[in-house]
This record gives sequence, structure tokens and C-alpha cells, in this order.
Amino acid sequence: MSIKTIVWGENVHDQENQVVADLYPKGMHTCIAAGLNLDENIEASTAVLQDPEHGLSQERLDKTDVLLWWGHAAHGDVSDEVVERVANAVLGGMGLIVLHSGHFSKIFKRLMGTPCNLTWREAGERERLWVASRNHPIVKGIPDHFELEFEEMYGEPFGIPEPLETVLISWFQGGEVFRSGVTYKRGAGNVFYFRPGHETYPTYHDDNVKTILKNAVNWAYNEQPRILDPNDAPNVPVTEALEPIVERGPKLHADGEAGFK
Ligand code: ZN
Repeated sequence: MSIKTIVWGENVHDQENQVVADLYPKGMHTCIAAGLNLDENIEASTAVLQDPEHGLSQERLDKTDVLLWWGHAAHGDVSDEVVERVANAVLGGMGLIVLHSGHFSKIFKRLMGTPCNLTWREAGERERLWVASRNHPIVKGIPDHFELEFEEMYGEPFGIPEPLETVLISWFQGGEVFRSGVTYKRGAGNVFYFRPGHETYPTYHDDNVKTILKNAVNWAYNEQPRILDPNDAPNVPVTEALEPIVERGPKLHADGEAGFK
């Protein structure tokens, strides 16, 4: 088995900020993909905002099992057409892992349907992550808690819908707490949001973070075939009902007519 994975990177600060370039000389997306490729189940490649169609053509998405998304400074530059394409891939069964400031990405907000806002502070605080769902596959091999010495603070209230599962919770030195690892099901697709990953800190070099991302890709992978039209809403005629029925009462639609969307 090989889980075809794309790490999508915005690749803006990686190019424009010397601190970020020193930490991630080939870009954050390349570092994240290299960590994933340590797992023999995973075959990770990369795509960036600057690629044609942001590297996310329909043909490439059709062959992708799991997509990771890191963005921050240029969410608005992502084409709505590509966002809708990615959303439909997730609804059809592709896994999606949204990282750090991707909470404000178009794709995450599209799939959550809420503002996804939070409080924040960039002060190099210690972050302590606590496992909130013991033995969840995403935290396999992770101790009950671990620390990242330098991180940006993200605090509650986090404007997300109630998660399917809360896998990790973070505490920050300044006193705030945050739901830092949460899962969702959207259509047939598994979605995981993972908080750490501010670009001026070495978060994606951390062994626990690498383990969580590898676990998350394995968790998000869906071995069943992609649902090709996850938005289809067919009108099932009376004659095709599983049990015989007689049509009765007034009706709005003609037989076989498509419904309103
Ligand atoms: Zn950040």
C-alpha cells in the first residue's frame, strides 16, 4: 500500500523571510513531505501556490489520497475554482489535514462553515500539548503530553463547529488553552486540523510533530473508491421504490425532474 499524499505550501514567507528560509531552506512543504516519507506507507510530494492551478489539477487530485494544507499570508490568492475542486475531492473521500494558520484558509472555512477565528500572540511561548483521546490512532506513540519550546499562541474561543473528536489540547505559557488537534468527517472525507507550525519556529523538525503528521495521514486515508459526484441528489421515481407504493397527494415536481439546489 502507498498513500499518495500532497503537502501543499503557500511558499510565501519561505521565500521572503530570512528566519523562515534558514529554518526551512527548501520550503516548509518540502520539510513536511520529507518527514512523511519516513513512513513506508506514505508517498508524499509537494505543491505550491505559485504552480499552475496551485499544483492541484483535477487529474492530480483524482490520484491523491490525502492532502495537507499550510497557508498564512496569501489565503485570498487561492483560486475559488481550485478550492471548490478540493472541497469536492474531500466530500468524495480524499483526506485533508489542515495545518496551523490554515485555520483561515478558504478550504477549511468552506468545509467548516464557521468563521474559524481565534485569539493569537507571537511571543515564542512554550506550548504543552495534551493527549485528550487516549489510544486515538493520530497519537499512536505520543506521550500523554509533550512540549514545543517556541510557538505562537492560539487561544480559545476557536470558531469551529463542535469536532467529531478532540484529540489534542494545548496550553500556552501565557495561560491560554486551545483545541489543537480536532477531527471531522465531511461527506466521505476525513479531516484533521493540527495547530502547531508557526513558520519562524522549528516545529516541523520536532519528532512528536512528525509522528502525529504521519499518523494523521494514515488515519485520513480512505481505501474505498472516490465518490465521483458527491453533490448528486437524484430523484428516485415511484416505479423504482424498493417496496411497491402508490403515488398520492399533490406534487410540485414532474416525474424525473431535477430538484432545486
Ligand atoms: Zn503562525
